[in-house]
Amino acid sequence: MRDSKYHGRKVLTELVNAGASPEILYVNKPHIGTFKLVGIVQNIRAKIAALGGEIHFQSRVTDLQIENGQVRGVTLANGKQIASNHVVLAVGHSARDTFEMLCDRGVYIEAKPFSIGFRIEHPQSLIDRCRFGDHAGHKLLGAADYKLVHHCQNGRSVYSFCMCPGGLVVAAASEPGRVVTNGMSQYSRNERNANSAIVVGITPDDYPGDPLAGIAFQRRLEAQAFELGGGTYDAPGQLVGDFLNHRPSTAFGTVIPSYTPGVRLGDLSHSLPDYAITAIREALPAFDQQIKGFAMDDAVLTGVETRTSSPIRIKRHEDYQSVNTAGLYPAGEGAGYAGGILSAGIDGIKVAEAVALSILRNCDR
Ligand SMILES: Cc1cc2nc3c(=O)[nH]c(=O)nc-3n(C[C@H](O)[C@H](O)[C@H](O)COP(=O)(O)OP(=O)(O)OC[C@H]3O[C@@H](n4cnc5c(N)ncnc54)[C@H](O)[C@@H]3O)c2cc1C
Repeated sequence: MRDSKYHGRKVLTELVNAGASPEILYVNKPHIGTFKLVGIVQNIRAKIAALGGEIHFQSRVTDLQIENGQVRGVTLANGKQIASNHVVLAVGHSARDTFEMLCDRGVYIEAKPFSIGFRIEHPQSLIDRCRFGDHAGHKLLGAADYKLVHHCQNGRSVYSFCMCPGGLVVAAASEPGRVVTNGMSQYSRNERNANSAIVVGITPDDYPGDPLAGIAFQRRLEAQAFELGGGTYDAPGQLVGDFLNHRPSTAFGTVIPSYTPGVRLGDLSHSLPDYAITAIREALPAFDQQIKGFAMDDAVLTGVETRTSSPIRIKRHEDYQSVNTAGLYPAGEGAGYAGGILSAGIDGIKVAEAVALSILRNCDR
């Protein structure tokens, strides 16, 4: 099999063929833009169909058929069964129902580390000024980004994740009665605020229990965020100055958050475990040393960010098949093998190659 560099180039080339800007082939941090991505996915879908593939919408997989450790097919929510000795499972990191089904079916899963925290919003102009100095605002430079990390006294690491220049904080809950934040930028990156997740790395030691204990942990934080937000799907928020000085926020300052339906100001100090709050309180002033104004009083924290990556890994052998269920190919972010569009695409190609190889070998016999 070819190396990841080849696969990465292949993913980027396919994205360009489907409509992404060719600059993603050479810029340091390739950026597609959310609205553009929709059209690109439609074009990729059309290509799959033209090559003989089929897309079945409204077809939720609810069960797997497994006989003596060999997958035999899938069952859909409408009761229909699709037989196959090769099933690629690429359900994303929030497919909690599927993870539970896999556990019930005895497919080997283990808990894996992920991160929790908040979104932070600053004026994009502040980030531009710190990064570009006198050249801030020049159209050739566009909106500046950043990448920050701080190792805390309590042994935790806090880092910025999924930084969105000129972007929006968006709702990412997948279940009723829960609030989850995420972020995105359009291709133009021209919204007023810069946002990123400020998250603390956690491990299964923080949520001991069965392989799905990380999901129970996420759910607790997300339900608490829903309550703190007033039970209306507003997200709970706090100004950085108030967060650092242990007092609830009551009014926005110069930074108006972008999250819709809205942000309900209050006190975030109990929205995450104490070790995470302590770590973020230590990290924000440290980040301010690198980006002057990062810990500005008016910057807005919005909670909670709990889906930085999958809380589980569906273990697989080197041939990409599940360690205890032959023919099942766990793939992408939900299975614990990717963390973003590019790595999920690369993993998808590797898994497709592994399936093809397995079919070829079986034909030879
Ligand atoms: C708001 C937001 C912004 C992001 N921004 C970026 C970014 O800027 N850059 C970046 O690299 N990444 C970004 N990501 C992450 C990126 O989208 C994921 O890493 C990537 O999509 C993972 O790909 P995947 O194929 O593994 O899973 P997904 O893209 O999550 O696809 C999983 C699919 O499986 C389907 N599914 C789930 N359960 C079932 C079932 N039981 N039956 C049938 N189908 C099922 C889902 O509906 C979904 O279509 C962002 C994510 C979000 C939510």
